[in-house]
This record gives sequence, structure tokens and C-alpha cells, in this order.
Amino acid sequence: MSRFETILAVDWSAAKRRSQRPGKDAIWLGVARDGTSEQQIYCRSRQEAETRISSFLDDEKAAGRRVLAVYDFPFGYPRGFARRITGSDDPFALWQWLEERVEDAEDGSNNRFEVASAMNRKFAGAGPFWGKPVETAWPDIPYRKAGIAYEDVAERRSADLAAKAASSCFQLFFNPTVGSQILMGLPVLQRLRLRHNAAVWPFEKVADAQIVFAEIWPGLIEPAVRSAMAAAGPEEIRDRVQMRLLSQALSRLPTEELAAMLAAAPEDAREEAWILGTGYEDRLNALASDGQGGLNPPPLSNDCFALPAGVDWTPVDDALALLRGRLGPITSAEAVPLSDALGRVLAEDAVAKRANPPLPNTAVDGYGFAGGRGEGPHVLPLVQGRAAAGVPFDGRVAEGSAIRVLTGAALPDGVDTVILEEDVSTDGARIAFNGPLKQGANTRKAGEDVCAGEAILPAGRVITPADLALASATGLAELTVRLPLRVGVLSTGDELVEAGEASGKGQIFDANRPMLLALIRQLGFVPVDLGKAADDRDALRAHLDGAAARTDVILTSGGASAGDEDHMSALLREAGAMQEWRIALKPGRPLALGMWHGTPVFGLPGNPVAALVCTLIFARPAMGLMAGAGWQEPQAFEVPAAFEKRKKPGRREYLRARVRDGRAEVFKSEGSGRISGLSWAEGLVELGDGAAEIKPGDPVRFIPYGSFAM
Ligand code: AMP
Ligand code: MG
Repeated sequence: MSRFETILAVDWSAAKRRSQRPGKDAIWLGVARDGTSEQQIYCRSRQEAETRISSFLDDEKAAGRRVLAVYDFPFGYPRGFARRITGSDDPFALWQWLEERVEDAEDGSNNRFEVASAMNRKFAGAGPFWGKPVETAWPDIPYRKAGIAYEDVAERRSADLAAKAASSCFQLFFNPTVGSQILMGLPVLQRLRLRHNAAVWPFEKVADAQIVFAEIWPGLIEPAVRSAMAAAGPEEIRDRVQMRLLSQALSRLPTEELAAMLAAAPEDAREEAWILGTGYEDRLNALASDGQGGLNPPPLSNDCFALPAGVDWTPVDDALALLRGRLGPITSAEAVPLSDALGRVLAEDAVAKRANPPLPNTAVDGYGFAGGRGEGPHVLPLVQGRAAAGVPFDGRVAEGSAIRVLTGAALPDGVDTVILEEDVSTDGARIAFNGPLKQGANTRKAGEDVCAGEAILPAGRVITPADLALASATGLAELTVRLPLRVGVLSTGDELVEAGEASGKGQIFDANRPMLLALIRQLGFVPVDLGKAADDRDALRAHLDGAAARTDVILTSGGASAGDEDHMSALLREAGAMQEWRIALKPGRPLALGMWHGTPVFGLPGNPVAALVCTLIFARPAMGLMAGAGWQEPQAFEVPAAFEKRKKPGRREYLRARVRDGRAEVFKSEGSGRISGLSWAEGLVELGDGAAEIKPGDPVRFIPYGSFAM
């Protein structure tokens, strides 16, 4: 068999909803070539997916590439089903039968329940399809499975049993369901297969076909998906990860191994189809995971800062999107006691060990008994003893009797309702009160807050004091968190001296390093002071060598342009891993991004104002991703301007600003060396990329320093 140059993985969906923003419940396509996942494409509708896949296949054919396209829904039904519907065992006859009947509107509404009804009617008694959104609709489709015999056709295919897939192709609704995906998917496959002359595995010979379709199931690589999700943080979309890892794993598979997998379908798969990779799960997981994170993620690749060729000035949003797309968590995990977890990044979902509250208890001080009481006066005898928080009452409270209970006490046996002590009069032996009182009044149910086994905090969460209360209350003594990101800070320039040192002519005190080290600490990372380096290539090289080993990220300032004394960029270029990012931004000279022995380096401009702005806008969210906390956007507020400004189009501007009397004032000078303005300001005003003419009172975007956690 010859090699497949391209793998296309398609995650199908029967969903109606289409959203503008990429999310789940739509269709994701993953493309991989040469063992590398190249892109994941989001399609809002099945029509869009069909068009995209079709033109993708056209392009691949034109380029002379061989394509294996895998789809995550069953290609066939259990043996005997096709004959019932079409009179033939040929699976393609069934594909064609469905293609002729299934209607799918652009908005996603479709007639799949009608088509399934028609198929069910071909069976004597209850047909195999079940599950629907409305119990009273589609009388030929049972709401529940109970009562369906599955005698004429089995509920599951051999392939489903072998792969341990949870769902049946006859289940049309309720999770986990794949039944609707098949009905909405096979008509599309039938059109694509005919149009592109694709060979469908395992129904047809695939050895010589240029385009091959096969069925896969992402459940086979669930371990790899789970660890990639944990590594990626809360914003990642599961369907996208599945398609990325699946396409990558198949693309990494040596041709002989893929040929063996294709040869592995058993005989009855000729009608029922087979899931590619069944029996090879370990191998696929290994190939899917390799280089894709997990709790001990691999280093970033040397080209992670590469910019698209031919771009001159990169808009800020494009630069941010590149960072966001390329970077991922780089820190490994450890378990720490709650007392050490504040501010740390959760490495995996925290799951409640026990319910909160663990037992039903009373929410007030009062008297407990069984059942509610109607309107009017009630008198109940009191049981000896009482129940208090931590001191339960051991006996049973007889029907019609009451017991003294204190806030937080577990409800004694025989008690489900509590009356407030303020509403009761007592002589010590009896209580009297007026109804009505509802059953369950003034009590808390077990688990009404959190159930045992529930995920209480998601991976990527930065632990707050309230999270510690939640974790402790639900029985967790430890949390699995990521090691804090170690961020080195290095100043470069012959002119720099330390505060407190004697300063010669032409020398200035280092302003960036104290600022950046403090900022790193405030952001929750570990600052590593790398000192300062002269404008001397060997000295700088030695500094970086020493630093790379003890830091996860390095921020340098100064020497980042392309001038004679700009050794930082020269060195990174020498290491073969330098990218000069010319970002359309003011203040900010080019950013030099690169890798030094596997450690990412942010070469910031030397000017303190530009250094701070670039750190807040670019380095901060990038470091958040690398720390495992996900991409964090600063929160901005619209406030009326207290200033006037004209701005040309072409670059984004950040002005040092503060809010007084509800209006944003800006610093009197935009000079990038004016450090006093940084300190005067309490945030930044962000002016968009386009031209602007701002008059007092016009709304502007103000980002308080606090939004950057500064
Ligand atoms: P450079 O990017 O090295 O060309 O530096 C640009 C400007 O920022 C020059 O005026 C430098 O003197 C100044 N500068 C560079 N590093 C620092 C620093 N750590 N503290 C204060 N000013 C600096
Ligand atoms: Mg310099």
C-alpha cells in the first residue's frame, strides 16, 4: 500500500444550533500531514462541512496527494438491518436509500425522526430506533428503549462491542447518542463518495484508491484527549482536540502499521462496517499524545513564534492570536496541601470526595419532627436529649414527637422538618406553635450544594480563598496544581547601573528590572532575577545559558531592535530561533521572540513604557497559557474621555491613563521614556487600530492596571 500524504478527521454532529463562535456541537475538521496536525477547521453547519470537505478533496486530488478521510460515526448498522430497509445486504444501497429521503435545511432543521419512523414501520412490533426530544411526537419511535426486543437485528454491531462504544446506532436522542449523526451523515458520505470516487473501508478495496473513507471513534484515544484537555485549560474545545489528535496519530502511523490496521476488519464488517484502529488503542494513544502536553508537557518547539511570511506590520490582534494558538502549558504538576494552594493553577479538575452538606441538617436553632403541619395550633411532646452540630442524636424521634435541634446538626432519624425556636413556646416537656409549616422547612438536604463526585473546580483555575473553602468542605486535603512558572528577568545595555551604585557619565539606573520582577510576582509567577548584561555578545550568551536552565520563560529588555548594539536579537537569530515581531503598536518597538535552548525568550523594548505595555499586552497572556491558566483577557471599561486626540490609522495605541470624576485622563506626554507617567497612571486607554478623532466626552476603552492583575 502506498502512503497517505494527508489525513482528514471529521467530527460529525446532528445538532441544529450553529454558533458564530467556534464551539462544540458543530463540526470540526482536523487536517494532518507528515505526522503534524496542521489545522482544525470549524464548520457551523453540515452544509458548510460538506462543501469544505468536498473542495478539500478536490484540492488534494489536484495536488496529487493521497487522502485518508475518517469520520466519527458508524458507516453501517447491525447485520440484517439493511436488508429490512432496502431488500439488499449492500450497505451502499442503504446509504442511497437515506440520501434520497433525509432532508437537511441550512438552519439544521431536518426530517430524521420522520425517516427513522419510516424505518421502524418496516419492522413487526417495535422497530429498533428509539429516543426523541418530545415524548408525544413521532408515535413510531418509542421514547425509551424498554420493550424493544432486538431479536431481528442486534442492538449493537460487532464493531461497537469490540471497541466498547457505549452508544447504539439505534439511539436517536439522549447522551451518548450516535444514531442521529448516522442519519445526518450517511447521505453526505454517499454524495461525497460518488463525487470523489472514494473507496469506503472496509466495504471496498482501498489499497490503490487515492481517496479513502473510513469510520473512526475518538473514544479510542480518550486517554490522550483527556490529558491534552487538562494541559490546555478550560477554554479548549474537546471536539477540536479530538480531531487534532486523531488526525495527528493516524498521520504519524508508519504505512505498514496503517496497512495492518486496514487489514484487521473481520468478515462481517463487510455489512456492518468497522472502527479503524480497534485493537490498536495503545499505539494510537501513544502517537496522539506524543508532543501534545499532558501533565508533564514537552518543551515548546523552536518555531512556535514563526510569523506568516510576507507580513510586514502585524496587527495586535493577529499577534495575540498567534501566541494564543502556538503556546500551551509547559509546567508539570504536583499535589500540594490546601494551605499551599492559594494562587496556584489547578492541573486537573478537582472532584468532590464527599457531598456538601454530607448529611441532611438543620439550618436554624429550633425543634425538629416529621412532616409539615397545617394551619392552626399544634402541640408536640418533646423527646429527651438534643442534636447539635457535631453531636448527633443517636435515637429515633417517634412520629408526633419533637426534639431540640441546633444549627448544623444532622437531622435525627424520624426528623425531616424544623421549626424556628422563635416561633415556638415550650414548657420543657412540650412545644406549641402555629401552622402552617411545610415539610422540609428550615432544613438543608444532603448534597444540595455539591454532590460527591462532582467536578468542583476546573483544570486551569487559579485557586482563590473561596476555592479552598469549597475544596475543604468537600473532603479534599490536597489539590493537584502546576509548578509555578519561573520567569527570569534580564536587563541589557552598557548604560545601566543598579540603583544605589555610583553612576558615571552617560549611565542610567536600571528601571525595567525592578518593575518587571515585581510584576511577575504580582501575576503569581516566580520571579528569577537574572541581573543585567552589558552590550557584549559573549557576556549575554553566558547569561542566557545560565538562565535557560533555571527558568521557564525569560523576559529581557533592551537590545531587541536590529541596531549594532542590539545583541539580544542578534544572539537569538544566531541560535536560529529568533523572530522579529513588528507589531502595529505604540508604544513598542519590535518584539524579539525566540527560543534559547528550549526556553522561550521575550525580547522587550528597552524603553520602560514600551517594556511595560508589551509585557502587559503580550507577555502576560502568553505566560498565563504557559502556566496552565489559559488565556486571560484583561477586562476593559468604556468611560468618557477627558482629553482630545487625533490618531492616524495603522496601529493600536496605549496611553497612560487614569479615571477621575468618571472620565479618563491621559498623561501629559506620550514620550516613551517618561517613567513618571507609568507611575502617575492607574491603567491604559486603548485606542483601536483605525483612525480616531477623540473629543472630550467620547467613550474610550480604559483597562485598569488591576485588570492585568497588576
Ligand atoms: P534599546 O532597546 O536597548 O535600544 O533601549 C531603548 C531605550 O531604553 C534606551 O534609551 C535605553 O537606555 C533605555 N533602557 C534600556 N534598558 C533600560 C532599563 N533597564 N531601564 C531604563 N531604561 C532602559
Ligand atoms: Mg540598549
